[in-house]
Order: sequence, then C-alpha cells, then structure tokens
Amino acid sequence: MKGYKFYEQVNAAFDEAAAYTKFDEGLLAQMKICNDVLHITFPLERDNGKIEVIEAWRVEHSHHKLPTKGGIRYSLTVNEDETMALAALMTYKCAVVDVPFGGAKGGIKIDKSKYSLEELERITRRYAFELMKKNFIGPGTDVPAPDYGTGAQEMGWILDTFRQMSTDINAEGCVTGKPIEMGGIRGRTEATGRGVYFGIKEACDNKDDMKELGLEHGIEGKTFVIQGLGNVGYHAALYMEEAGAKMVGVAEIDGSIYSKDGIDLAKLMEYKKETGGVKGFEGTETLADSSAVLESECDILIPAALENQINEGNADKIKAKIIGEAANGPTTANAHKIMKKRGALIIPDNYLNAGGVTVSYFEWLKNIQHVRFGRMGKRFEENSYKRILSVIETISDRKFTETELGTLAKGGGEAELVDSGLEETMINAYNQINELRKKHDVDLRTAAFINAINKVGLIYDRMGIFP
Ligand code: GLU
Repeated sequence: MKGYKFYEQVNAAFDEAAAYTKFDEGLLAQMKICNDVLHITFPLERDNGKIEVIEAWRVEHSHHKLPTKGGIRYSLTVNEDETMALAALMTYKCAVVDVPFGGAKGGIKIDKSKYSLEELERITRRYAFELMKKNFIGPGTDVPAPDYGTGAQEMGWILDTFRQMSTDINAEGCVTGKPIEMGGIRGRTEATGRGVYFGIKEACDNKDDMKELGLEHGIEGKTFVIQGLGNVGYHAALYMEEAGAKMVGVAEIDGSIYSKDGIDLAKLMEYKKETGGVKGFEGTETLADSSAVLESECDILIPAALENQINEGNADKIKAKIIGEAANGPTTANAHKIMKKRGALIIPDNYLNAGGVTVSYFEWLKNIQHVRFGRMGKRFEENSYKRILSVIETISDRKFTETELGTLAKGGGEAELVDSGLEETMINAYNQINELRKKHDVDLRTAAFINAINKVGLIYDRMGIFP
C-alpha cells in the first residue's frame, strides 16, 4: 500500500493506549524510540564468482531490560522502517507475556529462494560476524531467533560463528531457535503456532465474550481461515484442527482455496510439497487470487504471513467475528477501526504470537543454566507418584493397569514442561489484557499496549535516567 509506514502504525497504537497511563510525555517518548539502529552492507561472493552487495539491519528497540530479543527475517520486504516497527513490537510483546527482555529485530533483504544453501550460509555467518563486531549479539546483550524466512539451520550457523570468536561460557544463549543438538529446546519450532492456538482457545472459552459476538463458546466446531502455511500458520492450524475446529479456507502465495466442508491439513501439506502451492487442491474451490479467501465466510480468520494484509482495501469485506493475529502487524490501524466498528474481536499480534519468544526465553534459561528442564526432577516426581498410587492400591483394593500407571505416574520432561509453561503464560496474559479491556472499555490491542506501557514505564520510572 502506498505511503504505508509500519513503525508509524505501531506508534499510533502505542499513543492511543498511552492516554490511559500516567507517564509523562518524555518518558513515553523514550519508551517509543528505537535505542540502537544498525544498518550494514557487506559483499557476498556468489557461487559463480560474482560479487553482490547484501543489505541488512539489526534494531534494538529498548534497553530497559537486557538482553534484547527478537527474530531475524529474510525477505525482500525488509527495510529500516519494518525492522524498527518489528523491534518495537517485540518490546511490547515481551512485556505482555512477562518475558524479561527488551525488544529487537533483524533482517536481511534477500529472496531466499534465489540463493544456494552455501550462499545462505555465507550470508548468515557474515551477518553474525558483523553483529558480533558491533556488539549487537551475545547472551547478555542481544539474542536473535528465527522469524519469517529463517529457522533452526540459520540459528545453528549464527551460534557456530559466535562460538568461534567467543569463550563466553554462556555462548549457547547468544541465539534461540537452534537445533536441539546445539542447545535448542523441545517445542520451540511449534511454539508460536501453539501459542496462537492457546490464545484463541482462551478467547473462545470465555462465555460472555462469545455471547457478545453471537457465537457458541469453545473452539470445537468453529470454522477458520488461515493465511500462510509457514511454520507459524501450519502449527496454529494443526492445533486448531486437533481441538475440533474446521479449516475452511487457506491463502498461500500462489492462490487461495475454500471449502465449507473443511480442508484436511495433512493432505494439503502433502499436496503443497508436491506442487509448490495450494491451488487446485481436491475438493476445494480455487478463488480469484491469493487474498480472496480472507473475505470468505468463517468464524475465525488467522493471518499468519506478513504485515499489512488486512487494510483499508479489504477490511470492510472481512466477515470473520474473531481475527487471530498470528503474524506481526497484519492489520493496519484503519482496518482495525473498520472491523472493530462491526463488532469483531481482534486478538492482537503483540499478545497472540508471543508463544515463540516465550519458548525462546525458556531456551535461553536452559542455556545459561546449562541443564535441561526436567533433568533433576522427572524421575523423583515419577517415583513419588508411584508411591502414592501404591498406597491407593493397598487401601482401595484397586489395581492400576500398566497404561494407567504410565499416565498417572508421569514426571515432567522438557517437552511437557515447555508446553505447560507456554499454556500458563498465554492464559495469564490473555486474562490480564481482557480485564484491562473491560476496565477501560477499549479493544484488546489497546489493552495489550496499556499493559506493556505500564510494565516498561514502571521500570524506567524506578531506574531513573543514567547521566
Ligand atoms: N520472531 C519471533 C517473533 O516475532 C520470535 C522472536 C524470539 O523468539 O526472540 O516473536
């Protein structure tokens, strides 16, 4: 969209919420501004021997807590404005879910599909090297993670590059979303999508709120449309489907499909792997273009791709009663107003996609503790449960089967603890913002911003300003 400025959009939402807080203008300005903006260019030698200039950024939005935290994206849309906006969103997101980090974001302006694996490795390692040289990475300074176009592979290269130049005992904590073998954590890949599911579920379980929307409570039986079947979209759809919701529409880069009878996710993923897209999938109707399905009949719309997808051009045509923002910044400020006017419940990005950074926080804790969650307590817990169960058997004359013993006497391993920590975080944060929504008679986005501003503001207020 012409003239679209993402950072301005984030700040507009911030300003709207700031009116409900007690901080003075100067402090609010300090909270909004990006503390450090790094723009770098470096040469890449292509496989054919030609030299190409690569452009990249890292923005640390807020140093009120350290390290700063946020993903690195590989996309042609990357620019300074976008990176600043996404870094700011990270600050507010971390505050909303009580993850003790400041916000940051990085990006490399490339179309990933145009490079070989070796070229991508050279780009990533050089980027990590540049960050290190400029003190923009480290377990106590700034900790990158995956984002659009990146994953465990890139994070592994970053850690390896960092470790070649650092003897820091906590070096593994310089990046999250790493492969498990390199200090990653179970559940990180699924985390953002899983968090999206927990957040939508919490909203749908609220009887009063659903009644207001004219919907039954509970996730089961609800229809949803998803935009983007990348890591976040795929996992969100998977858990929604497992909980009994029906996927009726999917938008991907090549086009969009719809079927009121439901679309089988596993089969669609296979089809996408074979054909490279979703168009023409059996039993569905292929729509005019890749965004047409956003306007179709459904209870829940989940944009899980890039920013600026719901804008003034389509907001009034969107029929979903619940919008679950799995992507960062998918809805422009004006589009939000239009949908709010017709009574839609918008579950905002700065809360709903915070599952990723929450589990990143668990991974970082694991790295600096140098021990896997559950390693000390799992067996001890299991033995305690077994002792209790055997007492029950003695006094009740009831013998538990092996299967019952297996589930009843199960101790928490890393995967279970991460999942339960994530669920707890998403439920708590939802209830915090939903209370603020009701208290101030605002929408959930403003409520999430009020919550974040209050938490960050109090820290600035207490610490004073360093001379
Ligand atoms: N890129 C993800 C986000 O936008 C995760 C960031 C992280 O784990 O640090 O929230």
